[in-house]
Amino acid sequence: EPNKVSIEEVEIPEPKSNEILLEIAYCGICGSDLHAFRGKHPFIPLPATPGHEFSAIIEKVGKNISHFQKGDKVTVEPSLTCGECYNCRIGRYNICENLRVMGCQGDGAMADYLIVPSEKVIPIPDELSLLEATLSEPIAVGVHAVKRAGVLLNKNVVIIGSGMIGLSVIINVVKAGAKEITVTDLSDSRLKKAEELGATQTINATKTDAIEEIKQNQPYEGIDVVFECVGVEQSIRDAIEIVRKGGKIIVVGVFGEETKIQMAYVQDRELELIGSLMYTRRDFTEAVQMLANKEVPPELFISKIMPLEKAQHAFEQAFNKEENLKIILEVNKEK
Ligand SMILES: [Zn+2]
Ligand SMILES: [Zn+2]
Repeated sequence: EPNKVSIEEVEIPEPKSNEILLEIAYCGICGSDLHAFRGKHPFIPLPATPGHEFSAIIEKVGKNISHFQKGDKVTVEPSLTCGECYNCRIGRYNICENLRVMGCQGDGAMADYLIVPSEKVIPIPDELSLLEATLSEPIAVGVHAVKRAGVLLNKNVVIIGSGMIGLSVIINVVKAGAKEITVTDLSDSRLKKAEELGATQTINATKTDAIEEIKQNQPYEGIDVVFECVGVEQSIRDAIEIVRKGGKIIVVGVFGEETKIQMAYVQDRELELIGSLMYTRRDFTEAVQMLANKEVPPELFISKIMPLEKAQHAFEQAFNKEENLKIILEVNKEK
């Protein structure tokens, strides 16, 4: 049933030989959870047990596992992959033919306990708290998206959308050495965060014609790469409009609906339209390391921490995008 959270009692599961039983510490609420909550996510059927960005303490390990033990602080790559399809075999398992994701098509982490395959578990370094580690997942999305764009050194970039994923992209675009970094959004508070992270220009599209503004002020080379981080028709149409001929558009936003775009421009301007989904292990471990190195300011992202029992309220609050960027559920109190 859309728009309703319910909390139910279930048995604590037993890990198989290559699995790990986790006691969940914190779990972030993500835009895709909100889509699912409304019953509008294209790939998440209801009912679902959500939660794919989380940190945990190992409660029990399966009998074949020697490199982890009870009490370890960990985070988890939430993709569940088949290991046998072509993409899995060449290491692009984020686009596994049989991809499932914890908290989307598989059980998620908004629960006291969760069983995960051991190869998905990633240790949290001592410098990183359990709370901060929940940001690894959304930061990894940005790491991957920016790699999809290729070399960004001295390139001119536009990022459409300054939500969690847009901001994650900004951090990684700055790190990759981009020159002009223009960010558009509908919220001043989010654009302020974009500036703090290194955007060179921000545009509030409710106040200014963003397309005009970008076209008027663009550097000689034009806009080399646009990151679409919203997932609505207008923003992908804008992306196609502003990118230079021969430029790239990285599609990171999740589109809930079929979308109309000007395909003639893609052909005539030799545009590259490139999708980006999740991440693979290297992206994820890099995100963990960026957080541990304080390259990501957690306080800029985390708006509220609420107990799991208040999940219904937390989900409703998360729709208030002006006030809340990332709401994190505290699932089990830290000991
Ligand atoms: Zn997410
Ligand atoms: Zn596969």
